[in-house]
Amino acid sequence: MPAKTPLIGLTLDQLTDIARQGGMPRFVGKQLSDWLYAKKVTSFDQMVNISKKNRQWLDTYYEVGRMDPALARHSQDGSAKYLFDYGHGRKIESVYIPDRDKATLCVSSQVGCRMNCYFCATGRRGFHSNLSVREIINQILSIPPAPVAGQAPMNELTNVVFMGMGEPLDNMEALLPAIEILTAPWGLAWSPKRITVSTVGKLSSLKELLERTQVHVALSVHTADSRQRESMMPVQKAWPVRDVMKLLKGYDFAHQRRLSLEYIMWRNLNDDLAHADMLVKLIDGTPCRVNLIPFNPNPGVDLVPSSEEKMIIFRNYLNSKGIICTIRTSRGQDIEAACGMLAAKDRPKVNR
Ligand code: SAH
Repeated sequence: MPAKTPLIGLTLDQLTDIARQGGMPRFVGKQLSDWLYAKKVTSFDQMVNISKKNRQWLDTYYEVGRMDPALARHSQDGSAKYLFDYGHGRKIESVYIPDRDKATLCVSSQVGCRMNCYFCATGRRGFHSNLSVREIINQILSIPPAPVAGQAPMNELTNVVFMGMGEPLDNMEALLPAIEILTAPWGLAWSPKRITVSTVGKLSSLKELLERTQVHVALSVHTADSRQRESMMPVQKAWPVRDVMKLLKGYDFAHQRRLSLEYIMWRNLNDDLAHADMLVKLIDGTPCRVNLIPFNPNPGVDLVPSSEEKMIIFRNYLNSKGIICTIRTSRGQDIEAACGMLAAKDRPKVNR
C-alpha cells in the first residue's frame, strides 16, 4: 500500500482540492485547514465536524502528518532545544526561547546549509537537503509540546524567527508557502510582524521575499569590510553585502516592517571603531537596528569572542551615530542552542 500523503504543509487551495476529490463540499477544505492549523489536531478522529464517512475516506489516502520532536533538552535559562528526526539522517533542531510575555521559536529551514560560513556549526557540517513546507510548519505546530505533569507550563508561541539551521532564502519553495500558512486567515492567522527571516543576503531570492511577504528581515552582516567578509562568508563573492543593502534601501523599513543587521563580534577582527565606522557607512541612513551577537565558539573554529567591554564601546559608538544597537544575550549556551551552534549532530541526552 502506498504511503499516505500528509496534510500538514498544504494550503487552503490544496486542501479544498483534496476535499473535492473525495466528493466532499468545498467548505470541507476550510474545515481541514482549521483543524490542522488553528486547532492543531493530530488525528482525523478529532475533526468532529467532518462526517465519519469523509474522515474514513481521508484516512485511507492521507494522514495529518504531525511529527513530535524526538528529543528535548532544557536550559537553565528556560530555553529549550528540540531535535526532530525526519528520517534518512535528516535531523534538525528548533529552539524555544521564552522572554517575559514573549515566546519565540527559532526554526530550521534546511538540514545543514550550503552557505558554508566559516564560523557556523551548521555550515561546517555541509548541506544535506531542504526541509519541506510540512517539516517547517511541523516545528511551529509541535512546540511547545503538550504539558507534562509536574513540569512548569510553557507559553504558547508569540514569534517565529528563521534563525535555526539552514539558509531560508536557499529554500524559497518551502519558505514562501510556510509563511503563507503562518499568516493566512485560514492558517495560523499570525501577523507578519511576528515573523523574522534571517539571511546571509542571498540577493537572488531576497527581492521575492520582500515583494511577496511583509515579514521582518534580519541580515547577517558580521563585518562591513568586504575582504574580511569574503574570507568568512563565501556568499559575499556572489552577492556583496553592499548590493544587498542597496536593494533593501528601496523598501520601507521605517513603519511596520523591521530590518535588523546581525553582527557577530570577534576579538581583534571586527570589534574596533574603524569597523564600527565601516558599518555606519554601509547602513548609510537606512532605517534598521543592529544586533551585536557574542560569538559562540565552535570546535575547530579559531576565532575568539570580543570582550563585553569592546561590545559596549562598539554599541555606544553606533548609538552616538543615531543607530539603534543592542547586544543580544545568548540563550541556551549550556545546551548548545545558541546562535550558530545548531548541528543536530549528537544524540542529546533527554533531561525533561
Ligand atoms: N542562514 C541564515 C539563518 C541562520 S541565523 C543567516 O545566516 O542569517 C543564525 C545566525 O547566527 C546568523 O546571523 C549567523 O551568522 C549567526 N551565527 C552563526 N554562527 C555563529 C556563532 N558561532 N556565534 C554566534 N552567531 C553565529
